[in-house]
Amino acid sequence: MAKKTANLSADSVAGRPAVRAVEVSKTYSSGAVAVQALKGISLDVPQSRFVGIMGPSGSGKSTLMHCLAGLDTLDSGEVFIGEQEITRLSDKKLTRLRLEHVGFIFQSFNLVPTLSALENITLPLGIAGRKPEREWLDTVIETTGLTQRLHHRPSELSGGQQQRVACARALVGKPKVIFADEPTGNLDSRSGAEVLAFLQQSVRQLGQSVVMVTHDPTAAGYTDDVVFLADGSLVDRITAPTAADVLERMKGFEPAGAGARS
Ligand code: ADP
Repeated sequence: MAKKTANLSADSVAGRPAVRAVEVSKTYSSGAVAVQALKGISLDVPQSRFVGIMGPSGSGKSTLMHCLAGLDTLDSGEVFIGEQEITRLSDKKLTRLRLEHVGFIFQSFNLVPTLSALENITLPLGIAGRKPEREWLDTVIETTGLTQRLHHRPSELSGGQQQRVACARALVGKPKVIFADEPTGNLDSRSGAEVLAFLQQSVRQLGQSVVMVTHDPTAAGYTDDVVFLADGSLVDRITAPTAADVLERMKGFEPAGAGARS
């Protein structure tokens, strides 16, 4: 379908990454103890690319995602979302940038229980004072397979359907990037596969850029690139990974006897 090949981002002409991290460092201090969660991480997330972030528990995945999304401050380094460097923006400008250019998908769906699926999908746009583009909204709804469920409330939807509503909500504002934090963590494997296939389709057919934190090699197998964190540093990367590649690589990073789950 022609409308599904339209690229989401005007920046594509310049070939600029959707997100760029340059030498990002972050330390948490609690009392006398300081934990260096990120140790000079540089990472480009190209446009129209599905990038996975993996690593053992405590390796810095969530911190990195929060820093990339402007949800946490850095000690040093720079983060760009599109052409905008975000680390020196005021809170107000950062909130605006997130509303307009960043989509989020969480493990726990984070839908508003009293609103219908459609109202949930368009809520962030409304907060940003924008109206959905009708044709794009239709494309997103059709692609997520939610056409028959738009007037249902979250409690009337399965977990997989709720997460697809969350995906549609993230996608409908045409953000420069969507951050997905363990998006299949609360789903059975079949619903998880549907959500992952949808995210992959949004990258390949709609030109979306997606960054996903996951502990699951099967989920990582849907990405275009997976990067591995260990102890706050980027230690490896696989392009076009299979689940088996990822599993094999993870064995090298997990402490002996530890499970893969973060
Ligand atoms: P992951 O997502 O890979 O499990 P995190 O980014 O959550 O790792 O944590 C990286 C390191 O930073 C860990 O050592 C963790 O204990 C520490 N950390 C994370 N958040 C905080 C916080 N708010 N305060 C203090 N230490 C934190």
